[in-house]
Amino acid sequence: MDFKKERTYVMVKPDGVKKGLIGEIIRRFEQRDLKIIALEMFQPTTEQIDNHYPKDETWIRRLGQKTLGTYEKYGIDPVEKLGTADDLELGKMVRGWLINYMVSAPLVRMVVEGVHAVDMVRKICGATLPYLADMGTIRGDYSADSPAVANSEHRAVMNLVHASETTTEAEHEIEHWFGNREVIFNYDRFQ
Ligand code: ADP
Repeated sequence: MDFKKERTYVMVKPDGVKKGLIGEIIRRFEQRDLKIIALEMFQPTTEQIDNHYPKDETWIRRLGQKTLGTYEKYGIDPVEKLGTADDLELGKMVRGWLINYMVSAPLVRMVVEGVHAVDMVRKICGATLPYLADMGTIRGDYSADSPAVANSEHRAVMNLVHASETTTEAEHEIEHWFGNREVIFNYDRFQ
């Protein structure tokens, strides 16, 4: 394993594209000595996005539990608002919102390479929920979205960018989004 060549998968989400933040997002990775080795704008299909997000029950329940947590925190009744308090049902609902959101505009996909690329990119992006993300991160500097607002508008949290969470996830996502195509490049960066 060459630690300098760790790879991660990143997508600029619809709100990132529509806010004109493609350049700013890439700039922040490059500024931190990370290397863009594949880059493309494209319109995803619903099926591609559906296959991008995990389909296992544990992941879906986790998404539902997060929503339940938000509702509990703000004293909102999930049954009244969304018709159910079941984590699996809610998870499926949020997953559906996520798919609708992700196909609502073209996306920018890329492969980013460098020292601990997976963790570094996640750190540069900031916490999943923009209203909690630290200042100085992409999400903390350019978004204030929250699940309370998103859920009340029956949509996913818009957080500008997607980045793989682990090296295993990165491998799968790079394969899913770039496959066998010869669009991943090799070059040296000046340091
Ligand atoms: P990350 O994208 O940081 O890895 P997750 O895998 O937990 O985060 O969630 C996937 C995506 O689902 C998030 O990026 C966000 O857009 C959306 N999301 C997460 N939690 C919620 C929620 N409670 N309500 C609506 N959308 C959510």
